[in-house]
Amino acid sequence: MPKTTATEKRCPNCGETVKEPYKTWELVAPMPDKKMRITVTVFGMYECPSCGKKFRAVVSKAKLGAEGITL
Ligand SMILES: [Zn+2]
Repeated sequence: MPKTTATEKRCPNCGETVKEPYKTWELVAPMPDKKMRITVTVFGMYECPSCGKKFRAVVSKAKLGAEGITL
């Protein structure tokens, strides 16, 4: 099975593969969903090594459950 990194993206300008974001940040959803889970989205800023294009992409998403919390 080939190993692929989840952070690898393609430049929207020239199609070059950009391995890692130079900057990442997390965005936490202000409201939980129906199952009381909070969605945390990690965004990354990428810079293409070929053409220098900077673009933003979703690196990963996580859902945080509410286990352990009693209402
Ligand atoms: Zn590019």
